[in-house]
Amino acid sequence: MRFSGFGIAALATIADAAPTFHRNQARQNVTTASERLGLQWLGGNSSLPKILVLYTGGTIAGGSIYGALDDTQYGQLQITGEQIIARNPYLLNHTQLAVSNWTTEDDGSTGTNDALVMNMTRFAHDALCSEDSDIDGAIYTHGTNSLEETGFLMDLLVNCGKPIVAVGAMRPWTHLSFDGDANFFDGVMLAANPESRNRGLMVAFNARIIPGFWITKLHSTNPNAFGATAGGDLGLFINSLPVFFNTPSQPIFKHEFSIEEVSSDPSYPALPKVDILYAAREFDGKLVLDAQANGAQGVVIAGTGNGGIPSGDDEIEEALEKGLQIVVGTRSPFGPSSPARTPTYAKSGLVHVIQARIMLQLAIASGYNMNQTIELFEGKFREDIGQSWSPGS
Ligand code: ASP
Repeated sequence: MRFSGFGIAALATIADAAPTFHRNQARQNVTTASERLGLQWLGGNSSLPKILVLYTGGTIAGGSIYGALDDTQYGQLQITGEQIIARNPYLLNHTQLAVSNWTTEDDGSTGTNDALVMNMTRFAHDALCSEDSDIDGAIYTHGTNSLEETGFLMDLLVNCGKPIVAVGAMRPWTHLSFDGDANFFDGVMLAANPESRNRGLMVAFNARIIPGFWITKLHSTNPNAFGATAGGDLGLFINSLPVFFNTPSQPIFKHEFSIEEVSSDPSYPALPKVDILYAAREFDGKLVLDAQANGAQGVVIAGTGNGGIPSGDDEIEEALEKGLQIVVGTRSPFGPSSPARTPTYAKSGLVHVIQARIMLQLAIASGYNMNQTIELFEGKFREDIGQSWSPGS
């Protein structure tokens, strides 16, 4: 189904579970986004901030039948958003909360896909940014394995100043030291804080506030799992209350995309297919052509060091000629993949490869060609380092 105007026809499974958006209907007979979207607010104090809880799966929603020490084999037991809220008596002293479910049968990060997270993003955009919005902010709970992908996507698409905060857990709720309760509470307090406005998407994890644009999972098992690839943390939690280091700002390299425009791409409700390839010695350029033959409209290559590609130049050139868009980042965890003097494909700058895939998807869905994508990724970076380029020069 295609996106038409600003009406959303969501994926069947998710659409059935979650209210969809009809602006015309809103104008006719209901007064607030909450009513229109059928949100049920928990907590009795209507003077408190309203924070929407977008609930997906992952460890924060999972428990183990193997006892309180297990933090790897869990997933047999589930916990709902309402049950997490019920575990913490403090939450409703500070906020009103409404849960919107985006869980799938295939729970956790592995159950998410582009269509699901795009539909959730459309829902969040509608709930927070519509004229009739009565909602102050949102959190989304997510499997930590792909929390950063959803965060980056939402950061580039939902930008009306209201906070969205990502939370998750590294240990299941059956563990003797479940980190989900604290992360959930911290995230809600961050989303409800007026000082959180205009900072872009943020992640509340392990008492840290990390920007969604730069976040990446740096450790596969430790509760202190996340960090920023550039720019550092935005603040920390003390007594579960946010303390910011700086006044609000946004990453210079962030480009805001129009959710309406992206949703008019034929890939709706998902996004154009873009694959990531990892470069190493003997890199086989045929992989790029194979990806294209398999339907990819774009490929991101995790290059060596400052965006090097050890081999495969001929195949890359061939794929570009056939219309594939290519962005080359770095497989190093930190530092840029900086622009070439006369580019034929884009270098990712400081945007690391997982995020570059999403940025390229949004660019293609917005109708960018290869040169426009080069400008998108490299323009500001080139300006900063005094290395200008214009197509044809
Ligand atoms: N397997 C989990 C996931 O869905 C890991 C986690 O949530 O921490 O990402």
